[in-house]
Formats: sequence, C-alpha cells, structure tokens
Amino acid sequence: MTALDEYAPEVRDAVARAREQVSRLHAELPRWGLVVWTAGNVSQRVVVDPAGPSERDLLVIKPSGVTYDELTPEAMVVCDLEGNLVEGTRAPSSDTAAHAYVYSHLPHVGGVVHTHSTYATAWAARAEPVPCVLTMMADEFGGDIPVGPFALIGDDSIGRGIVETLRDSRSPAVLMRNHGPFTIGKDAKAAVKAAVMVEEVARTVHISRQLGEPLPIAQSDVDSLYARYQNVYGQH
Ligand SMILES: [Zn+2]
Repeated sequence: MTALDEYAPEVRDAVARAREQVSRLHAELPRWGLVVWTAGNVSQRVVVDPAGPSERDLLVIKPSGVTYDELTPEAMVVCDLEGNLVEGTRAPSSDTAAHAYVYSHLPHVGGVVHTHSTYATAWAARAEPVPCVLTMMADEFGGDIPVGPFALIGDDSIGRGIVETLRDSRSPAVLMRNHGPFTIGKDAKAAVKAAVMVEEVARTVHISRQLGEPLPIAQSDVDSLYARYQNVYGQH
C-alpha cells in the first residue's frame, strides 16, 4: 500500500505513463553531452484534478544519486508539490524542492530539467546573460537567456530564483548564478529540448565571442522570429 493508492485510477495511469516518459527522457541528457556521473534531472507534472487546484498535482522525478545506466521507469520517484514522497523505493533527487516550487508557482509548466552542461554553466559562473545574437535564439528563447540569483540548495531559494526570473521572460531557460541552467516546458520533452538548445547556443555565442563582438539582432526582428517559430513553424 502506497500513498498513490489513494489517488484515482486515471491519476495512477498518468503516473505510470510519466514514469516511462521521464525515464526515457533522462537518457537524452548523456546522449547530448549535458551531464556527467549522476548530475542532472528531468521531471514531469501529473495533473491530479483538471478542474481543481494545481497545488494537488504530483511530479515524477529521478531518484537521488543513481547513475544513468540504472534509470528505469520503476526507479523513478513520485512526489507531491511540497516535495513529500508519494511513491518510490528511493529518495528523490536533491533538486526536487526546486522542481516542486516551479510547478506550484507556474501552473502552465508541465516539465522541468536541470543540468550543469558545460557552456551554459560557464556563462552562469560569470552571471552573464547569453545575448540574443542568433536567429535560433530568437526562435527558441525570444531574447537573451537570463541569469537567476545565487542560491543554496536546501530550501525554497533555488525554486524562488527560477520562478522570479522566468515569470516575466519568454525564455524557457534560466542560468542560475554560479550553478547552471534550469529549463521549463509544457511537458518534460519540451524542457529537455530547451536544455539541449541552451547548451548549443551558449557554446556558439561563446565561440563567436572568441572571434570578436557578435552583432545584436534588432528587437523587432527578434519579436517576429519568435512569433513565427512559436506559432507557425513545424507540423500542424
Ligand atoms: Zn545543480
């Protein structure tokens, strides 16, 4: 008997699907060179009551300190949005409180990813936003990639820093100062995509900097690139 038995069958089915998705998406982090050893984590929200308050939602996340080769759907951990364990045989990721804070305060977010990917973290170490000097940045991030505050693990401060930085930004990525990137998306897959893209543009803009000063893109062009990519591009 786990606490999950108290939830409706639809919720338990949704948790089972999220376990599969989150397990599979974790494999993308080493595949794209975003993590070493056990660093990094992906989570996904499970909506408990579509008509009710989002505070009752659950999240599925990686267990703490487990290597990527050992990650299976069964190994994933289910928590509520206060970070309490609902189902799982292992302790949740040490970043669970930050993920839970984001889901509690940004109801449109369905997935969160955190890595210490090299180039994005190098910008975070210098607390410098990545300037929007690439059309792919305008497409994906709608502007500069912002820097969040310095925060220590252990309380709400990382989550609060992420939410305060991203709440009024079009960017799905924040570089937490001296730490690394956190990304958000409508689901875990979208947040993983943002984690891959933030590393890619951090690397490209860094290399551009070695050659000289990258040229800015006019705000009106950033706006039209963003609007087109978000609303028109792709398969519909
Ligand atoms: Zn971290």
